[in-house]
Amino acid sequence: MAECCGGGNRLVYACSGGADVGEIADRVARKLVKTGFARPSCLAGVGGHVPGFVASATGDVVNIVIDGCSVACALKTLEQVGADMTHFVLTDMGLKKGRTPVEDAVIDRIAETIRIKSSGRVEESPASTHDGCACGGC
Ligand code: SF4
Repeated sequence: MAECCGGGNRLVYACSGGADVGEIADRVARKLVKTGFARPSCLAGVGGHVPGFVASATGDVVNIVIDGCSVACALKTLEQVGADMTHFVLTDMGLKKGRTPVEDAVIDRIAETIRIKSSGRVEESPASTHDGCACGGC
């Protein structure tokens, strides 16, 4: 099984912004994928209205959306296609924009918090091939 095809029906998106908190959002999302908690998708694909990504975001999934700050670029992108989501803002979770080191301890702590807070909405389902994966085989 490819690494990106774990995670059941959870898809994770990060704003991946240029700020430290944007980078942390990206790395937290990747950690949630690597640990098998969620499957990756591409925020740019949704923002570009690429049909496969829009269909994935609006399908029978739990979208976990991580924004670095309250500008909430990722949330606004998903809202444009009418997607439901569980939303996290890292500056609401104690991180300071422009003053947070991008280091493993921070990423691990945030990933664990998101994993715990997202677990209640999850329906486990097997995903064994790229056919059911939002990544499109990337
Ligand atoms: S949510 Fe904040 S950190 Fe993320 S891309 Fe937007 S402005 Fe940058």
